[in-house]
Amino acid sequence: TKWVYTFGDGTAEGSAQDRNLLGGKGANLAEMSNLGLPVPPGMTISTEVCSWFYKNDRAYPDELSEQVNSALAHVGKLTGRTFGDAERPLLLSVRSGARASMPGMMDTVLNLGLNDQSVQAMARDAGDERFAYDSYRRFIQMYADVVMGLDHEVFEDILEDEKARFGHELDTDLSAEEWKTVIARYKQTIEEELEQPFPQDPVEQLWGAISAVFSSWMTARAVTYRQLHDIPSDWGTAVNVQAMVFGNLGDTSATGVAFTRNPSTGANELYGEFLVNAQGEDVVAGIRTPQSLTEQARLEAGSDRPSLEKLMPDAFEEFRAICDRLEKHYCDMQDLEFTVERGKLWMLQTRAGKRTAKAALKIAVELADDGVITTQEAIRRIDPASLDQLLHPTIDPRAVRDVIGSGLPASPGAATGEIVFTSEEAVAKAEAGHKVILVRVETSPEDIHGMHAAEGILTTRGGMTSHAAVVARGMGTPCVSGAGSLRVDMRTETLLTVSGPLKKGDVITVDGSTGQVLKGTVAMLQPELSGDFGRIMEWADTARRMKVRTNAETPADARAARSFGAEGIGLCRTEHMFFEGDRIVAMREMILADTEDGRRSALAKLLPMQRSDFTELFEIMKGTPVTIRLLDPPLHEFLPKSDEEIDEVAAAMGVPADQLRERTEALHEFNPMLGHRGCRLAISYPEIAEMQARAIFEAAIQAGEDTGEHVVPEIMVPLVSLREELRFVKGRIDAVAGEVMQEAGQKIDYLVGTMIELPRAAIRAHRIAEEAEFFSFGTNDLTQTTFGISRDDAAAFLGTYQKKGIIEQDPFISLDLDGVGELIAIASNKGREARPEIKLGICGEHGGDPLSIHFCEKIGLDYVSCSPFRVPIARLAAAQAAL
Ligand code: PEP
Ligand code: MG
Repeated sequence: TKWVYTFGDGTAEGSAQDRNLLGGKGANLAEMSNLGLPVPPGMTISTEVCSWFYKNDRAYPDELSEQVNSALAHVGKLTGRTFGDAERPLLLSVRSGARASMPGMMDTVLNLGLNDQSVQAMARDAGDERFAYDSYRRFIQMYADVVMGLDHEVFEDILEDEKARFGHELDTDLSAEEWKTVIARYKQTIEEELEQPFPQDPVEQLWGAISAVFSSWMTARAVTYRQLHDIPSDWGTAVNVQAMVFGNLGDTSATGVAFTRNPSTGANELYGEFLVNAQGEDVVAGIRTPQSLTEQARLEAGSDRPSLEKLMPDAFEEFRAICDRLEKHYCDMQDLEFTVERGKLWMLQTRAGKRTAKAALKIAVELADDGVITTQEAIRRIDPASLDQLLHPTIDPRAVRDVIGSGLPASPGAATGEIVFTSEEAVAKAEAGHKVILVRVETSPEDIHGMHAAEGILTTRGGMTSHAAVVARGMGTPCVSGAGSLRVDMRTETLLTVSGPLKKGDVITVDGSTGQVLKGTVAMLQPELSGDFGRIMEWADTARRMKVRTNAETPADARAARSFGAEGIGLCRTEHMFFEGDRIVAMREMILADTEDGRRSALAKLLPMQRSDFTELFEIMKGTPVTIRLLDPPLHEFLPKSDEEIDEVAAAMGVPADQLRERTEALHEFNPMLGHRGCRLAISYPEIAEMQARAIFEAAIQAGEDTGEHVVPEIMVPLVSLREELRFVKGRIDAVAGEVMQEAGQKIDYLVGTMIELPRAAIRAHRIAEEAEFFSFGTNDLTQTTFGISRDDAAAFLGTYQKKGIIEQDPFISLDLDGVGELIAIASNKGREARPEIKLGICGEHGGDPLSIHFCEKIGLDYVSCSPFRVPIARLAAAQAAL
């Protein structure tokens, strides 16, 4: 078996096609090498070794060490060096590289191969003893941390201590001799703490680092990340071992990261940061503040520190040309890492760059306009869920801003919340229903859960490519990074600002679009949905087959949904209309009445309210279908609970409070979700359904007159499991329609259909379709009743199910295709058999979930219906499903 793949010097054994085998980083290094770009030679140990490693008790295949050795010899030949040699030592970097980029795993060990001998050779080679010993101590520090598991703080303490002793302020002030003292203390500390010496044998170092990479695949952080992002654990990681190049060989050396376009806005401009005389991770770590790549960016930032363009024009121009070439080659915006060693450019990484939703749209639209990709590909490029970011509020430009600090606009959108200083607190407070802003000096992969829980993120250190910035953009969470004028004092849990200290729990607003940090809450604006967003949506609308409707009952929701492109209402939950204002009293009167007469008189009060609600909805949704569902929930949800509420209703009804209390108790149900709800109410109390039907028909006539647009209401009966149930309720609706038509002297067109939300209904759909002109799949209840899992109590144990690998996805979020999906498919087929022209839709939460939408397309539903803010997501997902 071949386990090791080499690259370098214009050729490679792999290519970009081999992502699964070589991981993202390895495949792209091979590809760049094949393209003849300057890539330090090296090898990729494949992901198959990782799988083998875990299947065989963390051992390696027999052939591996031989293959690694011969690859090392190859790299040695290309560099004129020998691994483990004391005179011309080959030094290596070792990095992990999974198929999907994965923070939380061991990242990098640099300068591997250094020891007490080779450091002297390095000093001679570089003509710089100080540099060599600095590199050696960095290597010891990194290796001891990530391979041997010794906390890096130990080394920082030693370094601080020595600097103080030598009277230096900066690391760069230390002489070679002083570094030697530091190194001696490092080595001694390792021996004391770990009871083993720092390994001097380069071969031992290399295998230590390789094992560390493979082991990091299973660390808690990596496992959590995979769970959050649905990455299977059997993918494994590859290990990339590469000849070192040095960005820290003095002022003609540098290291940096870049995007071929602006990852925040999508603007077509080279965008990035670099540090002179620095090594690898210094830029990402955010310890020194980096400089701009281009002159233009430097000017825009108002910085007086020179750009790379000015400082190293030759390397810069070569780099710019490579960026263009790679972007064209991959047909996508790239995220690159590079190093300049004494004026010579080396490419260390390229990959599709992470970007904000806004940037993703702009880039996809521009690439399509330039003919680099098709419009279909542009549609495919956008993650539907990410559109959510664009729907986030921004700060109203007219609002007064109480600015208390500012940093980099790391991830757009604005968010307000209470200050918390740790990720644990962020999670705890968010769970308790608070909105929080996570405030940190900088973030690390350990903060992922806190970053998820927070509305916004603020760091006081780090650039646009710092951990906080990259992760926040990926999540769509507003973030301000590197707000240098603010200081976090963890000891007293305060945020120190120019205008005074803020405590944990104080409210701030972060504006991730400008980088400002504001005190308190600020007026926000809803986003503009035109431009690139509009173009992609237009393309998506031409590509999709299914219609997208919305679940809405308030005028505000209906208007929002229309502005997001909803093509009708798929579900109007009428019960939500009864909680407002004084309606609840009339509603309670109706429920608590113990005679039909009592109910009718209360219903008479509700009728005009319902009629005007529906009229308004029809008018807002003008020309599009509106599905109104008859009252669904168990009656007890409306019951008065406190004594005051009981007194209020009793007074309105003119009955003694005690009598009312008794009636309330009589209506109590043990299992209301499976109790007296849905069409069961309409069967017990037909007058309720009749009132609603009347309100709907009268509103349809009214709205038709007001708008000149013919209204065809769709009346939906909930929680049906028997054809007879639907037949009974439909009979009442038809009778009311007849009455209203006669009163108004005009014909009304309408449809009567049903929710399919119980397994029996799905299985008997052909019979139900005899009475139903449309089906709308209520996948919330259908999931609840198919699994027998209460939708209100599921959260308590489904999380555990996911952690233990029993289910992959929460079935209330993403449709259970095998079970619930199968029922939907059966019902659709049976429904169509009995009534070929039957309209089919879905209105459970799943109607806004991209994976579920794919399924709906596959089985040929006519429309999906989802909450207003998910309408754009559904439009795009429906288009992707149809492509
Ligand atoms: C459903 O059950 O999927 C549905 C849409 O109705 P509700 O959520 O109101 O029960
Ligand atoms: Mg339901």
